[in-house]
Amino acid sequence: MPTFGHDPTQPMTANTPLIEARGLQKWYDGDRVHALRGLDLSVGRGEVLAIMGPSGSGKSTLLQLLGALDEPSDGELLFDGKAIRGQRELASFRSRHIGFVFQSFYLIPTLTALQNVQVPMLGQIRSARERTARATQLLESVGLGKRLNHHPKEMSGGERQRVAVARSLANSPALLLADEPTGNLDSQNAKRILQVLLDVHDHFDTTLIIVTHDGSVASRADRVVHMLDGSCQEASAAEAATVQNV
Ligand code: ADP
Repeated sequence: MPTFGHDPTQPMTANTPLIEARGLQKWYDGDRVHALRGLDLSVGRGEVLAIMGPSGSGKSTLLQLLGALDEPSDGELLFDGKAIRGQRELASFRSRHIGFVFQSFYLIPTLTALQNVQVPMLGQIRSARERTARATQLLESVGLGKRLNHHPKEMSGGERQRVAVARSLANSPALLLADEPTGNLDSQNAKRILQVLLDVHDHFDTTLIIVTHDGSVASRADRVVHMLDGSCQEASAAEAATVQNV
């Protein structure tokens, strides 16, 4: 793995949780859908957290709020002790601190692997040479050094997801959010992607939050929370691994 730790110019406070949700509420369609109902959650620096729960329980909504892709209707989100709500430039905040991996990869089909990984760097790293070098190293670190100039359609599902993981690390995020990252993969590729994510966590001390239906993924987490009807409660990893919650 290359040495892409968090930006040392951005101090992280050792004893504060990396991300903390207090009384999060989310309504959609006016007040018709109450997706999150006063949810509290605290995630420590360097922690691996799995979020499980049935479809419709609010997992994706929570991940979108934690990733500052959307704002809560009420409640507070703190990142490194500071409120996220009201950040003047949410997009820039996201690209500096947060990486995303989704079930559907969301690679740009007309771009090569190398170009896809550089997309989040645009606006953050000025030098094209530096962007190329960094993207190359990231792709090498996920075992795709020989696929730099391939387009997504020339790669397998597992390879595409590895490109997506490399892209998520473009700006050395402190927090990596993964929404069903193994959901579209066969068991061998799913295992490999999980290992890549855990390697990222081990090497960079990245805080990792994974939404998953897969008990074997959850069993590798430090902590598991179960969501039900817009609230969450803690479960041990061992407990979670035995739960069928699709
Ligand atoms: P999960 O990820 O656990 O399947 P979601 O967070 O996607 O749950 O959804 C929680 C609830 O919010 C569901 O009732 C869902 O239909 C609703 N919901 C999610 N996104 C939207 C949206 N953009 N507009 C309206 N309702 C939504």
